[in-house]
Amino acid sequence: MVSDHDDGKLPAQWKKVCVVGGGMAGLAAARELRREGLDVTVLEQRGGVGGQWLYDAATDAGDPLGMAGVHSSVFASLRLNSPRESIGFSDFPFRPTNDAGGDARRYPVHGELLRYIRDFCDAFGLMDAVRLNTTVTRVAMAPPRRDGSLRWAVRSRRHGEAETEEVFDAVVVAIGHYSQPRLPTVDGMDRWRRKQLHSHSYRVPDSFAGEVVVIVGCSVSGAELALELRRVAKEVHLSTKSTEETITSAMSKSVARYENLHLRPQVEHLREDGTVVFDDGSFVVADAIIYCTGYNYSFPFLDTNGKVTVDDNRVGPLYEHVFPPELAPSLSFVGIPAKVLLPVFIEVQARWVAQVLSGRRTLPSQEEMQRAVEEHSRGMEAAGLPKRWTHDMFLDLERCDDSGERTCGFPRMEQWKKEIFFSSLSDMVDDMESFRDGYHDSDLVRDGLRRHGWTPVAPRPQEEDDDAKAIGVANI
Ligand SMILES: Cc1cc2nc3c(=O)[nH]c(=O)nc-3n(C[C@H](O)[C@H](O)[C@H](O)COP(=O)(O)OP(=O)(O)OC[C@H]3O[C@@H](n4cnc5c(N)ncnc54)[C@H](O)[C@@H]3O)c2cc1C
Repeated sequence: MVSDHDDGKLPAQWKKVCVVGGGMAGLAAARELRREGLDVTVLEQRGGVGGQWLYDAATDAGDPLGMAGVHSSVFASLRLNSPRESIGFSDFPFRPTNDAGGDARRYPVHGELLRYIRDFCDAFGLMDAVRLNTTVTRVAMAPPRRDGSLRWAVRSRRHGEAETEEVFDAVVVAIGHYSQPRLPTVDGMDRWRRKQLHSHSYRVPDSFAGEVVVIVGCSVSGAELALELRRVAKEVHLSTKSTEETITSAMSKSVARYENLHLRPQVEHLREDGTVVFDDGSFVVADAIIYCTGYNYSFPFLDTNGKVTVDDNRVGPLYEHVFPPELAPSLSFVGIPAKVLLPVFIEVQARWVAQVLSGRRTLPSQEEMQRAVEEHSRGMEAAGLPKRWTHDMFLDLERCDDSGERTCGFPRMEQWKKEIFFSSLSDMVDDMESFRDGYHDSDLVRDGLRRHGWTPVAPRPQEEDDDAKAIGVANI
């Protein structure tokens, strides 16, 4: 079915906008687009909004290396690693509630963020724009308007129904980037017959009880899974590229605490009999390997005739990580950046897109945008940074503020929020195990919290963590 609303007139402003994805980015985009008076439809493949935070007990079971299509990578016991005070949308703080089953802590379990996202939808009446259980299967250019402006044919399938196609003036792609596992190339991986999975498919520790587990990758998820699994596994070996990696040094404290937790160098090769050989020649016979090696960007439905590609995890060309110069502003991406306070930056990008689509702001010329993208790439090359880091913001909150201010007049983040975020990072690299419950606020943070009406929440003692796990699962 093709439906169209071309009235034959040149549009004074963009009218009908499709947002692909009902996670934080898609919902932030929907709110901002509505504020600008645009007609928004959010297409979400799952039965509820929330994206990653809508926990899914299902894993890619038939394909534990995770290429089979489950969206959420959240595991059952996950607690946020960024303080709640720093990640709420600018006018809708992520405050604790008194709800039964709620988790008022600064670093709550994942179900608490899902609750917040649902409250955000209710507060801004967004759910009537959302079509759930609707998977976008193709986004391609439709015949342009008479004035030459681009339009998009969006094909989607509501579960159990036939595919339909609808034409939109603009599409905002907001599908996240923590669902498509990135796997390393390890000699012997294809021959290894025991359990191998990506962290995307990890949910609960039970099936690893008594096992020898090798975890490949010592970033946040590698460290978190090692700490969870050492409670049930016989041995956990955390393999790291370099002992100088930030989280590795934080983990050395935990390694000193637990006899069954070991740090290892990179995996050199795997043998069919279950032996995992490390770079320094040491080896273990393992029952399971979990790859905590990150994610790839992937837009399987997007057909731009090669105008937007993904090359070694560089989505490009994208001006300021949002607009492809040749297709702007009718195609945009919200939520691409990594190593950033994502929810806040998502709001910045969403506001910019909405203001450009409504005509309130203009973009530089296509040539200027293209030049800026090329300059960014050249700068990365000159600094010796790999292509796959193109969208890393390196936790540079000043750069994010500059970008928000420049692109859409977004207010800069208050200093106390930055401080609470950075002190949480330094607490994390100091001790992965205690940072969520052992923090101490500076005067600046305490003053910020008081001025903004945050009630201090006493950190809960560690042994109550099991209750927290129950809350995390019960809330979804
Ligand atoms: C394990 C883990 C821990 C994290 N911890 C934190 C943390 O502590 N703090 C923090 O700030 N961030 C954290 N993050 C980052 C988190 O992903 C972001 O905070 C946020 O959820 C990103 O929102 P998003 O909308 O961009 O993407 P997502 O939440 O992934 O939402 C994308 C949505 O798009 C939908 N979709 C995808 N493809 C289609 C399609 N073809 N058709 C229709 N719908 C589609 C999906 O179903 C999903 O609902 C974590 C991420 C992971 C994986």
